[in-house]
Amino acid sequence: MALVTMKTLLEQAEKNHRGIGAFSVGNMEMIKGAVQAAEELNTPIILQIAEVRLNYSPLALMGPMMVQAAREAKVDIAVHLDHGLTMDVVKKALDYGFTSVMYDSSTYPFEENIERTQEVVKLAEKYGATTEAELGLVGGSEDGSCDHGIRCTNPEDAKIFCERTGIDALAVAIGNAHGNYPVAPKLAFDVLEEIHNKTEIPLVLHGGSGITDEDFQKAISLGIVKVNIATASFNKLTQRAEEYLKTEEKHNFFSLNEAMVRGTYENVKHHIKVFNC
Ligand SMILES: [Zn+2]
Repeated sequence: MALVTMKTLLEQAEKNHRGIGAFSVGNMEMIKGAVQAAEELNTPIILQIAEVRLNYSPLALMGPMMVQAAREAKVDIAVHLDHGLTMDVVKKALDYGFTSVMYDSSTYPFEENIERTQEVVKLAEKYGATTEAELGLVGGSEDGSCDHGIRCTNPEDAKIFCERTGIDALAVAIGNAHGNYPVAPKLAFDVLEEIHNKTEIPLVLHGGSGITDEDFQKAISLGIVKVNIATASFNKLTQRAEEYLKTEEKHNFFSLNEAMVRGTYENVKHHIKVFNC
C-alpha cells in the first residue's frame, strides 16, 4: 500500500458509502498510533497537520515523517495540510510530498476567497495534489486562539464556489466548531443536504471531536466524506499519559511513549469504526 492522493481516498469512500477519517498528528507517537489503528482495521486514512500547529510541530520535521509513514503503511494513506494560511507553507508542504492541501481563506470576502483558492488549486495541480477549501465559518480555530463565530455555508454560494475554484473537497459550516464542545452540537442537516445536492463534491466536516457517533453517520449519509479529528486524539493521548504518570511504578520515557501511541491509537480506531458503518 502507499502514499496516495486524498482524491483517491475520497472517491473510494464515496463509492463504498462510508466516511474517511482525517486525523491530526503532532508528533511521532501520534503518527504511529494512527497508522497502527488504520492497519489493524485495514482502512485507509488521512494524516494531517494544520498550519497553526507548526509552532509546536515544525513542518520540516513532521512533513517527512508523515510522508514516510504513509509510504511504509500497510494501508493507503494521504498526507494533507489542514488549514493552510499562507502560500509559502502550502508550497512547502507540497514540496515535502503532501498529496493534498487545504487553503483556508474562509474569513475573506466571498470573491477574495474564490481568487485565493484558485491560486492554490493552480499550484496543487502542478504537483498532482488534491485541494480542499472552506466556505462559511466553522466555529473556533485549530489552536483555540480565535473564534470568528459560526456562519453556516450558503448552499447557493457553495455551488458557485466549487464551480469557479475547481476544488476537490469542500469544508462546510453546519454548526460544527473546532476544539471541545461544551455539549454535542446541533448540526444543520437540512443545510448539509442542500449543499450536497447543489455541489456534488465530497464534503468535509471539521471540528469532529465531540460530535455523536449517530450524527457522524447521519452526516456521512448526507454527503460528508471526510471527517477531521484532532482534539479527541490530543485529549486521549494526554489522558493515557496522565494515567501512566499516576501509576506507582518508576516512570520511564519508553512507557510514556507507548502511552501516547496507545491514546492516539484508541481514539483513531474508535472513529474509523464509526465512519466505516
Ligand atoms: Zn478545521
